[in-house]
Amino acid sequence: MEHQQPIRRKIIHIDMDAFYASVEQRDNPEYRGKALVVGGLPEGRGGVVATASYEARKFGVRSAMSSKQALQLCPHAIFVRPRFAAYKEASQKIREIFSRYTDLIEPLSLDEAYLDVTEDKLGIGSAMDIAKEIKQAIKEELNLTASAGVSVNKFVAKIASDMQKPDGLTFIGPSSVERFIEKLPVEKFYGVGKVTAQKMMNKGLFTGADLKKLSLAEMTANFGKTGAFYYNIVRGIDNRAVQPHRETKSMGAEDTFPYDLTTIDEMHAELDKIAQLVHDRLLKYQLKGRTVTLKIKYADFKQITRSYSHPERLNDLQLIARTAKDLLAVTDLEDARIRLLGITLSNFTPIEPKQKQSSPQLDLFE
Ligand SMILES: [Mg+2]
Repeated sequence: MEHQQPIRRKIIHIDMDAFYASVEQRDNPEYRGKALVVGGLPEGRGGVVATASYEARKFGVRSAMSSKQALQLCPHAIFVRPRFAAYKEASQKIREIFSRYTDLIEPLSLDEAYLDVTEDKLGIGSAMDIAKEIKQAIKEELNLTASAGVSVNKFVAKIASDMQKPDGLTFIGPSSVERFIEKLPVEKFYGVGKVTAQKMMNKGLFTGADLKKLSLAEMTANFGKTGAFYYNIVRGIDNRAVQPHRETKSMGAEDTFPYDLTTIDEMHAELDKIAQLVHDRLLKYQLKGRTVTLKIKYADFKQITRSYSHPERLNDLQLIARTAKDLLAVTDLEDARIRLLGITLSNFTPIEPKQKQSSPQLDLFE
């Protein structure tokens, strides 16, 4: 990971536009042109927004915001629960379209994937032409729109796909990659979290060009392993390969509260909200896990985690929430002031091992 030479690939990052909401608008004509929110209902206690239609986004509605807040911002919005079976079906058809061009497909979720088209199956050669064809096929065959970013590596392709949404197509060629990253604000860097971005800005580092002034040793000293990674990124180097069988090890969500929680009712209400987020993510990534982990950070920043492993893999909302509450119940909450709660699911591998490893082709028929 230290000083590297760049590997030039042809990478496309495809991201569906407002995916869940677009599928709902496609399947239910009465929702078309309307502010639509897919996710938890605002009447429920822990409802959160999974996806909002562009009509709702105009009012400031965003993913992961509470449905109550979404209703306040956009009182005329229509709220519907997600239909994951429909999204999964659309997602499989989209992947089938990708597979006409390449087998090097790395799905990041139901609505997002990296494609390596350095050598495409049809011998088209131009990654831009392939991206255009894929967008066209998605439109014609599925009646949905996607945005695509085309570049020489994953990092830039992913940022590019977000630049002209919806229905966007953005190309950042080899000669403009470095200049593009130099101009990029650190908070737009994919993978830089809010905390790290803030830390960078506190040090007067606002753009890729600012980061580029630091040596590898300085980047590592300030930002650890991530620092070493971004040392290369700002030089246009991201040699990560597109991995068709990407393994996710854990998936979770957490929330830091504006004020410390002191009552069990407040904690339960927050756990319901967080469980809903975790649940939606599990469905989005089609994962089930055995182990539920509860993370608690107290007002004095002391942090503990407690885990429980179920005999079977699960993605059931009620069970995740209940397990988290049970784990909370066995911690010492006497006089506790809690500033953060988190729930993580892990242990995604089925208990019967090795089935998949022995014949990776199985995936093609899933
Ligand atoms: Mg998307």
